[in-house]
Amino acid sequence: MPRYFANPDLDSLSSEGVREYQEQRLRSQLAYCYEKSDFYRKKFQECGAAPRDIKTMDDLHALPIFMNKEQERLNSLESLERFGHPFGTHLCADPRDIYMTGTTSGTTGVPTFTYSLTRDDIANFAPALGHRFVMNGLEYGDRVLFIFALGIYATTISLFGLRSVGGVPIDVDARAGSELMLRFAAQTRPRFMATTVSLSEYLIGKAKSIIGMEVGDLHFKGVFVTGEVGVSIPEVRQRLEQAYGCPVYDYWAPAAHAIAITCGSPEYPGMHAVAPDLCTAFHDLVDPDTKKPIPIVNGAVGEMVVTSLKRQAAPLVKYATGDIVELYTEPCPHCGFPGHRAKLIGRADDMLVVKGVNLYPAAIKQIVETFTPEVTGEMRVVLDTKPPRVVPPLKLKLERSASVSDDDLDALAERIIRATHDQLKIRPVIIWTEPGSLEKSTRKTPLFEKNYE
Ligand SMILES: [Zn+2]
Repeated sequence: MPRYFANPDLDSLSSEGVREYQEQRLRSQLAYCYEKSDFYRKKFQECGAAPRDIKTMDDLHALPIFMNKEQERLNSLESLERFGHPFGTHLCADPRDIYMTGTTSGTTGVPTFTYSLTRDDIANFAPALGHRFVMNGLEYGDRVLFIFALGIYATTISLFGLRSVGGVPIDVDARAGSELMLRFAAQTRPRFMATTVSLSEYLIGKAKSIIGMEVGDLHFKGVFVTGEVGVSIPEVRQRLEQAYGCPVYDYWAPAAHAIAITCGSPEYPGMHAVAPDLCTAFHDLVDPDTKKPIPIVNGAVGEMVVTSLKRQAAPLVKYATGDIVELYTEPCPHCGFPGHRAKLIGRADDMLVVKGVNLYPAAIKQIVETFTPEVTGEMRVVLDTKPPRVVPPLKLKLERSASVSDDDLDALAERIIRATHDQLKIRPVIIWTEPGSLEKSTRKTPLFEKNYE
C-alpha cells in the first residue's frame, strides 16, 4: 500500500474512517482548550456552546469563527500585559514549556507567535512536515538548500520536518544576498532547494555571473516552493522547471497546520493534505465576507478555517486564516492520493472588488503569464485608493520584453485587455514599463503598487 499520509494509521482508512479519526481527536482537543484557556472558554460561552456539544465535523462547521490574525494580535498584547509573555491568551500550555517559537513575517503590524510549540508538538508535527518531501523523492542524507528571509520566520518549523526524515538543511538567510546563496549552492551541491517562488525566479538570472554556471547545472532533483500563488500558474512552473531542469513542487503549512504538498502531476494537482489528523483545515471553509460555512464539495472555494486536532501549546480553534483556496475532495487523478487537496487562490486581504465582482491579483497574473515572452511576467496592480473597491478601469503595470518594438506595444496591450475581459469581465488599462524595472523580491513579490496614504 502506498504511503500517502504522514500517519500510517490513516492509509488503511476510508474517507469516513479519516473523518471519525478527526472527530475523535476534535472532542479531546476542544475539551483541552476549554479547560486550559480563558480565551477559548469565553468564546464557547459567547456562542452558547460547550465542547461536549461539538462531536462531529458538522457540529464544528456550525460554530462561528473564534479567531483571526487581528484577534490573535489582541490575545498576544493581552497576554503580554497580564502574564508577561507574547504567546496569547489562547495559550494552553505553561509558557516555560514552549520549545520553539516563530512568527509570520511581521511586516504588517504586531507579529503574532503562531508557531509556538512544545517538544510534544514538534514530535507530532515534524514527521508530517518531513513526509511531504519524502513523498517527492527526498532520501536520508540529502542536502536541502533552505533559503528564507528571517531567522524567527515561520519556515523554521520546516527545518524540524526535514531533519526528522534525515534531510540535511543548508540553512542560508536570504538577507545574505544572492551571491552567498549561490556560492553555498555551488559548494554544498544540495539535491533539493526549498524557497519562495520569487527567490527561485530571481536566482535564475544571477547564477551565471556569480558562480559561472546556470542554476540547471546545479542538478537539483527537485525544488520546493511555498508562500505565494506561483507554480499553479502553468507558465511560471514551466519557466522554473526548464531553468532548474527538475520538478518544482508547491508546499505549505500555514500556522504549522494545513501541511500539504503537490505531487508531480503535469496538471496542477492541488496541494495534498498529508496530515488530516493534525487539523481540519482541508475540511472547513467559510465565505470570506459573511464567514458563513461553505459546503465541503469538490471544487468548493472559500477561506480556509483551521481547528487543531492535536496541539499542546497554542492550539487554534475556528481560526479564519485569510487564505482563499479551491478545494478538491476527489482522489488525485495523477498519484491516487485519497485525501483532500487545495489550490491557493489568494489572500482575503488581497481581494479587490471591481464592478461588484471579487477579483484576486493571482487571476490577473495567470492571464499575464500566458503572454510571456512578449512580457516578462512581472506585474503590479496600481491602486490609487484603498482596496478592496476599485473604480474601473483597473490599472495594470506590466514589464514589456526587450524584444517587443514600440510599434507593437499597442496591439499587445489590446490582446491582453481582450483576454482579461474574456476571462474576468474587466478591461484594464495597461501601463508599460521597461524590463527589469519592477523590483523582484527575495521574499514575497508585491502584487500592488499603492499610490494612496
Ligand atoms: Zn497527486
